[in-house]
Amino acid sequence: MNKKTIKYVTEIIRCPDFEFGRFRMGELVHEAYCSRLKKNGYEVEKDVHKVYDNYLLLGRVDAINDEEVVEIKTGKKPQLIYLIQLGIYMNMCDRDRGRLVMIASNINEFSLEEPLSDQAILALIKDERKPKWGWECKKCRKRLSCPYISATRKRS
Ligand code: SF4
Repeated sequence: MNKKTIKYVTEIIRCPDFEFGRFRMGELVHEAYCSRLKKNGYEVEKDVHKVYDNYLLLGRVDAINDEEVVEIKTGKKPQLIYLIQLGIYMNMCDRDRGRLVMIASNINEFSLEEPLSDQAILALIKDERKPKWGWECKKCRKRLSCPYISATRKRS
């Protein structure tokens, strides 16, 4: 078998060098919701992998059972990137149902009924742009020292 190039789900959905600040409160909320799902029979924080052509894609789903994949995020609005991540996990885990849980002052849920296709995932894997999205650099801790963006963009 050919040696596969390893990629991680988190690095194909955004700039691979992106670095968020750590939000302890968000992590605690995430953990609490995961343990609630675990009590309801879900497997949580499950490592998953799948081969796409010459790539081995690795990831970790927040929660999964026989029917669905669940992705948990903090914040009010369901960003496109979250739905893409969920669609990737649905493909990797062979599930047709996905649920994005957004936790802020209340909990909102959004469902996805079709996984991302193999072709779409492969396109994301091969997309080497840094950044991949217009908003990323503003939220990235590496912005001031980043070699990929202009001095003007660092200050904006
Ligand atoms: S500043 Fe932008 S391009 Fe640089 S590492 Fe962060 S997200 Fe990537």
